[in-house]
Amino acid sequence: MKNKPYDYLIVGSGLFGATMAYRVWQAGKTCLVIDRRTHAGGNVWQDHKQGIAVHTYGPHIFHTSNSRVWQFVSSLVTMNGFINSPLANYHGKLFHLPFNMHTFRRMWGVNTADEARTIIEQQRAHTLAMLHGREPQNLEEQALCLVGRDIYETLIKEYTEKQWGRPCTELPAFIIRRLPVRYTFDNNYFNDIYQGIPVEGYNTLIQKMLQGADVRLGVDYLTDKAQLDALADKVVYTGSLDEDFGFSLGHLQYRTVRFEHKTLDIPDFQHNAVVNYTSADVPYTRIIEHKHFTHFGEQVRALPHTVLSYEYSTEWQPGMEPFYPLNNRRNTLLYEQYAQLARNEKNVLFGGRLAEYKYYDMDKVIEKALQIPI
Ligand SMILES: Cc1cc2nc3c(=O)[nH]c(=O)nc-3n(C[C@H](O)[C@H](O)[C@H](O)COP(=O)(O)OP(=O)(O)OC[C@H]3O[C@@H](n4cnc5c(N)ncnc54)[C@H](O)[C@@H]3O)c2cc1C
Repeated sequence: MKNKPYDYLIVGSGLFGATMAYRVWQAGKTCLVIDRRTHAGGNVWQDHKQGIAVHTYGPHIFHTSNSRVWQFVSSLVTMNGFINSPLANYHGKLFHLPFNMHTFRRMWGVNTADEARTIIEQQRAHTLAMLHGREPQNLEEQALCLVGRDIYETLIKEYTEKQWGRPCTELPAFIIRRLPVRYTFDNNYFNDIYQGIPVEGYNTLIQKMLQGADVRLGVDYLTDKAQLDALADKVVYTGSLDEDFGFSLGHLQYRTVRFEHKTLDIPDFQHNAVVNYTSADVPYTRIIEHKHFTHFGEQVRALPHTVLSYEYSTEWQPGMEPFYPLNNRRNTLLYEQYAQLARNEKNVLFGGRLAEYKYYDMDKVIEKALQIPI
């Protein structure tokens, strides 16, 4: 005999919570989904400005090599085939990303992979000789060992320093263990088999995932925990782990980003969805032009206006939006202590990017939620 109204209380309507809600419904069970924000979808939620879907919490391009995840998402929405091909602007000169033959052609005027490889190898050899056999000690040394000085100074150094707010010589080498270099003319940023953006938008994807759930928005679990817990047999918690334990052991730290959104009365500003600004004299790290995620070719000009987001990377303070976990030694140890407390909560499942204090791409969040027994 069931004495609680729901089988599951799901805290957070982001992709982890929404995937769980869909699976609970498919399994014939019931759930209540709550979110402290006034909209569902977590960080994939899109605002709409004059007919343009705006990625409010940063551009989200879905990419995966997991066919189960791709089929799951494609069973709910149609993916539009968008391929992420960002550009880099360094003092007004445009380069293709990721580093590939288009980039090398622009940088050195070379046309063949052998020519590009020779230049990179010469520059790498120079750094390796300077290191005298020791391991790279910081991000600068690591990058120079991987791609040489020209690419590092034009496309990595100042951009990375803006992102992290400190010199590359003070950043750990492990941040860039690998820097993909492609000796082909291929601007596709990702290596995954599948890629795209929902034609109907991420909000529709989330709505479909939540179709079998009761949803209450603007409800903060932590202000009414006991009462909300009483509504369900099990809890799925996707908020921050340290916050759930009242920050009793201290705050986990993050790097965060802030966006300035602008509407311009011109049909097309930068002719591409994403342009990174890799020089230090420009304060933002990139400009996102949202219509390029969904409007291709002539469709771009069909709307006489465009919406841009300028992305600024900033130091995180408690109370700000937690975006990127700072996985240094202090935070890793602190997280482990919180995770130990979490393991004692037998009725609560902790999942998603905040509860696991981990940068997850969307496909990985869904993959994880698809594996959990209901
Ligand atoms: C700038 C940026 C760009 C990104 N771009 C990409 C990309 O291009 N491709 C890609 O695959 N991934 C991308 N990601 C990663 C993607 O955003 C995540 O994988 C995904 O959003 C994680 O979903 P989630 O459900 O774990 O977390 P979230 O989306 O953060 O959802 C958690 C939800 O829980 C709610 N919540 C928290 N605490 C409480 C509480 N106490 N009470 C009630 N509700 C609560 C929050 O309001 C939120 O809605 C990007 C991330 C960032 C930061």
